[in-house]
Amino acid sequence: MAAPVRSVALLGATGSIGTQTLDVLRRSPEHFKLVALSGGTRTQELIAIAREFQVSLVGVLNENDAQQVAAELPGAEVVVGDDGLDVLARSADVVVNAVVGFAGLTATLAALDAGKRLALANKESLVAAAPLVDQVRSQRECDLVPIDSEHCAIHQCLAGADPAGGYRSVKRLLLTASGGPFRTKSVNDLQHVTKADALDHPTWAMGPKITIDSSTLMNKGLEVLEAAALFGIPVDRIDVVVHPQSIVHSMVEYVDGSTLAQLSHPDMRLPIAYCLGLPERLDHSWGAISFADALTLTFEPPNREAFPALDLAYEAGRRGGAAPAWLSAANEVAVEAFLQDRIAWSDIVPVVTRTLDAFDGAPLTSVEELREHDGNSRRIAAKMVSSL
Ligand code: NDP
Ligand code: MG
Repeated sequence: MAAPVRSVALLGATGSIGTQTLDVLRRSPEHFKLVALSGGTRTQELIAIAREFQVSLVGVLNENDAQQVAAELPGAEVVVGDDGLDVLARSADVVVNAVVGFAGLTATLAALDAGKRLALANKESLVAAAPLVDQVRSQRECDLVPIDSEHCAIHQCLAGADPAGGYRSVKRLLLTASGGPFRTKSVNDLQHVTKADALDHPTWAMGPKITIDSSTLMNKGLEVLEAAALFGIPVDRIDVVVHPQSIVHSMVEYVDGSTLAQLSHPDMRLPIAYCLGLPERLDHSWGAISFADALTLTFEPPNREAFPALDLAYEAGRRGGAAPAWLSAANEVAVEAFLQDRIAWSDIVPVVTRTLDAFDGAPLTSVEELREHDGNSRRIAAKMVSSL
């Protein structure tokens, strides 16, 4: 018997993950029906997507955009802001959260609360809200599957492993990192890199925020925290290995010495399709490897001196509570300032470090506290930016 068609809500539809999700949906109309979507500033693109997929529930940022969308999509229900994202995240069987940054928080929490499958690209919400997501998970079964390619690889390599006792049979998780555009640069070289250099990622085409995060290795730091939150494994059992070809997407080392890995050419449509289709695998080939061609895979340790963001994230992970939320919020402020040419690339991580130094260890037990932490970190980071 054919599986029933799953309804899909796509938040952040106009972005890099959003448009690649649309590609997957176009290929599988027999499996999925897009029923809700949201965007940010690219309203015309959002309207075009809603027309193509005949979606009648659309989320926008503000009332102005809502009027425009309502005028161009007669009959559609238009919802606004955070409340709108909450409605969208409860409206379908599968919720793809492809919003960038802390703005993805509402959708993450609402989808889990409503018992939907959460196909999560938005790592920032999970990093910041890990203690809250743990609370929800302790109360109910949650269907949370990671789109982030490393975590999707680990999800696959953990299939069949017993999660009891924080995956006792797992010695460590090994997150691979391409190393970004500055992998071979020294601390000295890094004083003079430009925005164009930082936006020129060697293996992945992504949105601007994660591309900058990849250049500082903050992306890998956030991913260590993301992995800890997803799999309930402490950061000290998570290692990072640089693998410039981006073919091995991550690995799991078991206590008996076996290491399992997931391989494919870099193509985010593969993890997206995995998250949408689970437990089935969709019969489309995204990034399959032809071993008829020569293939060289290399691995090296990260340069922790040149890329201190990595150790900073481990430190935040060891402190736990709201420390990762502070790290991520300060990083958003610093990356935004860099993209607006207000600070140099080499200022990004120092802004985050000094902001995290100001964190007093106050607890994180509710969404209200999380929003307060986020606001406090942003305020301090913004002050650091202004003082530079
Ligand atoms: P993009 O910047 O390309 O897209 C972000 C999306 O979020 C856009 O649709 C944007 O709308 C929307 N958006 C931005 N701000 C808001 C807001 N305040 N409220 C609601 N929606 C908003 O980012 P990516 O697709 O690259 O990344 C999305 C997430 O996925 C990030 O968390 C990233 O870390 C993660 N990720 C991305 C990967 C990739 O390959 N791109 C790989 C792994 C993880 P608009 O553009 O219309 O303004
Ligand atoms: Mg990743």
